Amino acid sequence: MPRIAFPPPPASDATEALRAEVRDFLKTELADRPPRLRAESWNGFDRAFSRRMGARGWIAMTWPKRYGGNERSALERYVVLEEMLAAGAPVAAHWIADRQSGPLLLKNGTEEQRRSILPRIASGDCTFCIGMSEPDSGSDLAAVRTRAVPVPKGDGGGWRVNGTKLWTTYAHHAQYMILFCRTDGGAEDRQGGTSQLLVDLSTPGITIRPILDLSGAHHFNEVVFEDVLLPEDALIGQRGDGWTQVMGELAFERSGPDRFLSSMALLTELVRALGPSPSGHAAVAVGRLVGHLIVLRRLSRSVAGMLDKGENPTLQASLVKDLGALFEQEIPEIARQLVEAEPDLDSTRDFSAVLAHTVMNAPAFSLRGGTREILRGIIARGLGLR
Ligand SMILES: Cc1cc2nc3c(=O)[nH]c(=O)nc-3n(C[C@H](O)[C@H](O)[C@H](O)COP(=O)(O)OP(=O)(O)OC[C@H]3O[C@@H](n4cnc5c(N)ncnc54)[C@H](O)[C@@H]3O)c2cc1C
Repeated sequence: MPRIAFPPPPASDATEALRAEVRDFLKTELADRPPRLRAESWNGFDRAFSRRMGARGWIAMTWPKRYGGNERSALERYVVLEEMLAAGAPVAAHWIADRQSGPLLLKNGTEEQRRSILPRIASGDCTFCIGMSEPDSGSDLAAVRTRAVPVPKGDGGGWRVNGTKLWTTYAHHAQYMILFCRTDGGAEDRQGGTSQLLVDLSTPGITIRPILDLSGAHHFNEVVFEDVLLPEDALIGQRGDGWTQVMGELAFERSGPDRFLSSMALLTELVRALGPSPSGHAAVAVGRLVGHLIVLRRLSRSVAGMLDKGENPTLQASLVKDLGALFEQEIPEIARQLVEAEPDLDSTRDFSAVLAHTVMNAPAFSLRGGTREILRGIIARGLGLR
């Protein structure tokens, strides 16, 4: 059976000064942020906070300076990400663009797209959303039905888009969407004939409707396209290359520390609630969780190193996301066994409020960015088992 390689991540000594700087910044910035809000992890949306991060050069850290980036290493970027997530900083306004839409444009976008948009992402002014899932196309992304049809030059040129996207996180705050759609052929062509388009969400014909999650919060949306006209240069990369591009994008989406740190606020509250002298049983349970955390971090940093070298570690990223989601979902289960408390979003007891938030969000951890079954299918294929 083939082995899945996780090469050692790059050495980290040079990053400790940066880590101290980030911790200092967060200590002041988050001084008044209660644990219940910290539990939102990367779903916390605060444009002003993102701008302050941009001013520090902590968004778009690895991108070329000519596009507003800072030409720092992938590992330095990783340090900033993990500190932000561990502290529960509200990073949603720039998170998706920094993680995947910006790198996609950097790799496959036109020079004009890069010059006009990347600096705005870097300054924290520009939010992106991901237009992949549809009502009948989630796991089976190749069944995508939203269609962009070329408009003849005589009629003004460009693309006419019709279709519906679903579960689109933060479309209601975003300026742009990366739209995955069909530009040629039919459903029978599967992955062939798909492309990615850059969509300015203020274009006429686009309707964004809210969908509330289990806790009643508004993160995701339905986005409907009705005869939406996009310019010719909205195309990202080559027409028909959508599938290859989207798979590259998913490697960025699946491997980062956001895939195992979603329940960190609860782990922190659990340790606080157990106090300085936990029972032997509780100490063992927390020790196991921390052991898993350390291994996940090692695997995830290895994937960051591979991405930095321009490799496409789809298989490794799938493994990190699957193991990461198991870990994130295990924390509320274990916390409930170790501490007696009713989950209650409105509780003044931090543990109860954070527990309630995490319990209601945990089912999504193994759905968003690819479900458990789909990831395991990819892993099985990579191991030659199917
Ligand atoms: C919090 C959250 C945020 C999201 N944000 C976005 C976003 O911003 N943009 C976006 O495009 N999408 C987003 N999504 C959608 C997400 O990508 C999809 O929910 C996911 O891909 C699953 O698709 P589906 O919901 O259509 O479920 P389905 O694909 O219908 O799957 C239903 C069940 O069937 C199983 N299943 C399906 N096919 C197979 C198979 N071949 N073998 C075995 N089992 C299978 C699945 O594992 C799952 O358990 C988000 C989802 C969540 C929960």
